[in-house]
Amino acid sequence: MSDEERADIGLIGLGTMGANLALNIADHGFKVAVYNRTAETTRRFVETAGALRPLLTGCDSLEALLQAVRPPRAVILMVPAGQVVDEHIDRLRPLMDADDMIIDAGNANFNDTNRRAAGGTRFLGIGVSGGESGARFGPSIMGGGPRALWERIAPILEAIAADYEGTPCATWMGEGGAGHAVKTVHNGIEYADMQMIAEIYGILRDGMAMEPLEIATVFEAWNGGVLKSYLIEISAAVSRAADPETGRPILDVILDRAGQKGTGRWTAIEAQHLGVPATVIEAAVAARNLSARLEERRQAERVFGPAPRPIARDALSIPVLEKALIAGKIICYAQGFDLLRALSEAHGWALPMPGITRVWRAGCIIRSTMLNDMAEALDNNANANLMVSDFFAARLRETEADLRRTVALGAEHGLPVPALSAALSYFDMLRTGRSTANIIQAQRDYFGAHGFERIDADGTHHGPWAGH
Ligand code: NDP
Repeated sequence: MSDEERADIGLIGLGTMGANLALNIADHGFKVAVYNRTAETTRRFVETAGALRPLLTGCDSLEALLQAVRPPRAVILMVPAGQVVDEHIDRLRPLMDADDMIIDAGNANFNDTNRRAAGGTRFLGIGVSGGESGARFGPSIMGGGPRALWERIAPILEAIAADYEGTPCATWMGEGGAGHAVKTVHNGIEYADMQMIAEIYGILRDGMAMEPLEIATVFEAWNGGVLKSYLIEISAAVSRAADPETGRPILDVILDRAGQKGTGRWTAIEAQHLGVPATVIEAAVAARNLSARLEERRQAERVFGPAPRPIARDALSIPVLEKALIAGKIICYAQGFDLLRALSEAHGWALPMPGITRVWRAGCIIRSTMLNDMAEALDNNANANLMVSDFFAARLRETEADLRRTVALGAEHGLPVPALSAALSYFDMLRTGRSTANIIQAQRDYFGAHGFERIDADGTHHGPWAGH
């Protein structure tokens, strides 16, 4: 095979993401060699690729795949995160030349990517967001690893990435696991964003007795305003959809138990690890965990009776809920960026804060118009809490009362709002100049002689409770 005939890039793993990514790459005129563990999948994939078929080379072994790619080779892994990635690296390395690179495009834990990158091999870890259709028509891509490797592969990644007004949503975030770290926090924010929408949906459904079609109309209207985003758009779409089998609104036949693959949990773990209060994300992860305990919830409902009670018509309006969601979203992103700053510092990256918001403006699941304003706020001061930037401080002043009202009504009427209430508590704690940690200091000194600071003198002091 001459170099001319060889593919520009190789791809391993023709599952949902890999297959669509390969078609996307071919769509942009690049030749792709593909390999899948199950050979039949490879054969079928190439056979059904239609007009793109000439750009695809199906391979039945890793050796054949490497033969089919032009050196220095770049091979994308799109397989489940974790051990499967390590196994592929171990199998590929002995077959590769020193200049060849492996690109892990799955949802890796960035600590694994740091470890793999430190192995001295040519390795890139890229976070890819946008689900199936993003992979096919333009995902958001967050890259990490040696910059020179990124530059080598950037022409392909920028071509296939989502486009925001002429700018590709593909950015190098830093060395090692920087790209996967940004993707992890993206997913943590995604969990929180989804949870807050679900909480508002719960108020509309159980507190205001609205039917899915009415709820769809609410989300559709919000999608024309400040909340305009992919997640609000799809929330409207799923609220409007009917079940083909029963004709009922599909939301009414879907079980209330949500799955997860762990990226939200990783975000919460990293936040705890670094001492960053990412309470909205933590609440969202916990809510998903609790959703999975279906039997336990049903049993508790039998013991205590169902929680939700209707809210009086005049006690709450749709615009109040809209503003509550705006406030919750701002606070959640403020926490996400706080965590990104801490990760950047802890790992010696220089994560480009405004650059991150820009790469999230198209292609990814959390894309929204609000990200534009966030980019601007972070351009002005990348290190300040987003909440105190002029723009978002003004927005929070306008919406705070409605977040408070929504959380209070939720609490009063047994409508769980864990993420929204975490957002409100964070907001209140952050703006409390004199908190209650004085009594925590006193307690710690009382039981453990840890000492405390005083408001009127330097140094460490002890209370009058020695010997208790
Ligand atoms: P799928 O389950 O659809 O596909 C998995 C692929 O990996 C298949 O090609 C499968 O091959 C292969 N595979 C699985 N186990 C092994 C193994 N032990 N050895 C060799 N090959 C194996 O997964 P997705 O495409 O959804 O996800 C791929 C990666 O992308 C994951 O890291 C995921 O977290 C990430 N991701 C997924 C998104 C999504 O929306 N789905 C969004 C962003 C990232 P076979 O056909 O033989 O089973």
